[in-house]
Amino acid sequence: MKAKVQVVLCKCCTEMPALLDMEKLAKAASDSENVLSVLAVDAVCDGKQLAQVVNNVKDKELDRAVVLACHKKDISPALLKAYKRAGVSEYMVEIVNIREEVVLPHRDEPHRAQAKAETKLKAALARARLLAPLERQSELMRTRNVVVIGAGVSGQAAAREAAKSGAHTILLEKTGKSLKAPGVIMPNSTLVGCGGYGGNFKLIIKAGEKIEELETAAVVIATGGGWTHLKGPLAKAVKDAIPLYRLHEQVQAGVLPKGPIVIVDTPDPAGKTLRVQDFAWDDTLETAMELKKKHPEAELWVVFQEMRAFGLSELAYKEAAEMGIKFVRYDKAGPPKIDPKNPTSMAVKDFAHGELLNVKFGTLVFASIPANPDNEGIADALRIPMTAEGGIRRGSMQRWPVTTPRPGVFVCGSALFPKPHEVAEREGEAAGSMAGGFVKPGTIEFGGVVAEVEQEKCSACLTCVRTCPYEAPFIGKAGKAEIRIQGCQGCGMCVGICPSKAIELHHYTDEQVTAETRTLLGGDF
Ligand code: SF4
Ligand code: SF4
Repeated sequence: MKAKVQVVLCKCCTEMPALLDMEKLAKAASDSENVLSVLAVDAVCDGKQLAQVVNNVKDKELDRAVVLACHKKDISPALLKAYKRAGVSEYMVEIVNIREEVVLPHRDEPHRAQAKAETKLKAALARARLLAPLERQSELMRTRNVVVIGAGVSGQAAAREAAKSGAHTILLEKTGKSLKAPGVIMPNSTLVGCGGYGGNFKLIIKAGEKIEELETAAVVIATGGGWTHLKGPLAKAVKDAIPLYRLHEQVQAGVLPKGPIVIVDTPDPAGKTLRVQDFAWDDTLETAMELKKKHPEAELWVVFQEMRAFGLSELAYKEAAEMGIKFVRYDKAGPPKIDPKNPTSMAVKDFAHGELLNVKFGTLVFASIPANPDNEGIADALRIPMTAEGGIRRGSMQRWPVTTPRPGVFVCGSALFPKPHEVAEREGEAAGSMAGGFVKPGTIEFGGVVAEVEQEKCSACLTCVRTCPYEAPFIGKAGKAEIRIQGCQGCGMCVGICPSKAIELHHYTDEQVTAETRTLLGGDF
């Protein structure tokens, strides 16, 4: 059957219409084979305009679409749902990220931007003509369990929120401390392995000396930061240095620590021995300002290499400086030093003025939080990626900040990177709520972009079985590889590595990818 394509040009990003000749782009679209409708809209995310777009699909009985707009993750959920209601499956809509791939990198080159936009449009059309609707299937979840790893502030919040959605929560806590949280609490327990897939995971738990299997529908990682793992040259030199949270507790209790007080970002300023996550700036500013308010006479220094704070907290720098808190920025190549024989003075070169300062202190405070070393084993067991600093990597910063790339696994609090208690608690609530929402329907959907083995070509070499990060391929009864599609994440690794070229990834078939790539390579860049 001949493809009937709709092309949508979104003008939302202000640079798009200013940089690109949208009429020329529309003409290039309408002159292309199989294109029956071209719409230019001000903002495809806008409900009314989206309705207009999908009504046009229905009216003209179109069966697929190419949308030139911004990042897929920013627009796709609402857009794809609307197309689905109009009878066009999500697998029949091709989204081209014109904003980030064309407009932003070529702001000063309108001719290149126009040529690239037209080439990308043609490549998307070449692929769209070969798209096929794919089936999704569903399966019942065997349990409504949500396992929360870590029983700190974010973990407890996650358990409370997940329980509100009807989930049965199980909190794994590696220490033996007693806790108040809904559901079951497993003290002295850690995750050591994981099988299955989102909705029907089978976890291997080390509970005390015993190894237990635990079925769960979802997992929330709430391991917290690594306060207890302080090391590095400054920590070695000053044995009685304290972490920031301890200073915070003293300030709350009205205690003024011995002055002057120096808060330094990390115990390892050269970053040689310790992987440190983001400097806990929000907490630092808040604690320093509170201390200065209560004790205006206190001498307080903040020594840092890079300044970051969460959202509007950045405004607090100015206020803190006006209160008399002294900020010194150092260069990573020349980090602050403390002579262990004289652990009361810090030598630091002020990056701004090039001046070498000797800052005397009575109390040294470390604001950084090393990554929690437990993250590595947990990420390994759950087969999810980590950040370079040792945090758990989230699914998408903008749209899904408490998800991970693996369906059914959520993350919150300082397991991602250090953050204030209140933010960690709110994130715990968000992750718990998402995990609760995930298990609530009691079914999982799978399929679509998944791998399939052409069994005649398979030589049962086991390469795909060993390569897949999600344990989806297995050798079936026929002695050939098969894919457990519930577990397949559509990453394509097995497709690329199979020596017999026996595996195909639906939605990214050789034919589809080749048509798109040939058009791109033959285009004008
Ligand atoms: S890698 Fe290819 S040939 Fe080897 S078992 Fe998997 S499908 Fe079969
Ligand atoms: S595409 Fe292949 S390697 Fe990737 S998840 Fe699916 S089966 Fe595993």
